[in-house]
Amino acid sequence: MQQASANRVERLVQQFEELYGAAPELMVRAPGRVNLIGEHTDYNDGYVFPAAIERDILIAASVRRDRQVRLFSSDMGVSSTFTLDAIEKVSAEGERWSNYPRAMAWALQNRGLPLRGVQAVLQGNIPPGAGLSSSAALLVASGLLLLSAAHQTLDPVELALLAQQAEREFVGVNVGIMDQFISVLGKKDHALFIDTRTLHYEPVPLPTSGVVIVIANTNKPRGLVDSAYNQRRAECEEALAYLKRFLPSIRALRDVTSEEFTRWEASLPEVPRKRARHVITENERVLQSVEALKKGDITLFGHLMNASHNSLRDDYEVSCTELDALVEAAWALPGVYGSRMTGAGFGGCAVSLVAEEALERFCQEVPQRYREATGREATILITRAAQGAERLL
Ligand code: ADP
Ligand code: MG
Repeated sequence: MQQASANRVERLVQQFEELYGAAPELMVRAPGRVNLIGEHTDYNDGYVFPAAIERDILIAASVRRDRQVRLFSSDMGVSSTFTLDAIEKVSAEGERWSNYPRAMAWALQNRGLPLRGVQAVLQGNIPPGAGLSSSAALLVASGLLLLSAAHQTLDPVELALLAQQAEREFVGVNVGIMDQFISVLGKKDHALFIDTRTLHYEPVPLPTSGVVIVIANTNKPRGLVDSAYNQRRAECEEALAYLKRFLPSIRALRDVTSEEFTRWEASLPEVPRKRARHVITENERVLQSVEALKKGDITLFGHLMNASHNSLRDDYEVSCTELDALVEAAWALPGVYGSRMTGAGFGGCAVSLVAEEALERFCQEVPQRYREATGREATILITRAAQGAERLL
């Protein structure tokens, strides 16, 4: 229970009682996440290194005798009801959030798990659409709730895979495995190294004192993210096709070392060459980051974060004025080990590793410099690495 504040839990219980006239029998939480390094590597079979954050979705519920799932989103102030016998996707603006729990129920039943009806209230504090994966948290929390209500258990990796399948096939968003995986398997005070090809994973300790993760949100509305994302995927495919001529055994950019790349890069047109260079060097930076943190070398890890930002800005070309402004403002301050854009790019958030004694100045100066550079307001979220999804009640 340590991760969700007692106040939030209390309020949720109260709300549940007002709505359904009895105390909840179950409560679950699932966190959002921030990727510390390893960006745009997942669809190239590569490595990622996220941490779960101290922001989550809480769901309180009780089991019903029938096959109805009744949900009330406390944040949206809207309820949505469906039956487990015929799960349909909804398109009404106010109810679309319920497609995530619907998707999860659909995926669990497809897997042959018998579910039971529930009535529930959910409440979250992950800003939606900011790239901190509120959608994965909602899927995973819904999954854990539905499993608990039916007295079912599932291997955590399988739960993550089903949540990914739910988002891909039911909601219709072509996502990788990182978000669902970290929301399920996150470990307090650890980042999680994940090999997205083999799903091998390893929690790596972060310093437990003296340093915090600071997430700065550009608050820039989503623009060209989706089309640029698809374009980058295609450019990686193109780079792979070129490199296969020289390295016939490779299956993905993940299989290319930087020595091999240096040997053949001149044969690639400029754009696929730059995209491949980012992916190949980024994968290496993730492996170096894991080694650095295992040795407690936070300074080296910070340098790798900075190099990741430069690569995303210059080679992958997914940064933007707003992200660069946040990162440069962070770089200029003492006590900042490293800073980079995180997530798909073109907006969303920057992540920094900051010494505790430098926090106050960071919170003052970064938003101020950001305002001067862009005219926008940044929001700052301070966190440590949090535990993955869990049943609280
Ligand atoms: P991200 O995962 O980066 O936050 P997405 O667009 O993938 O952004 O997911 C955001 C969507 O998740 C919201 O539009 C909403 O449908 C759903 N969602 C997130 N948080 C909540 C919440 N607290 N209550 C209900 N739905 C939520
Ligand atoms: Mg999402």
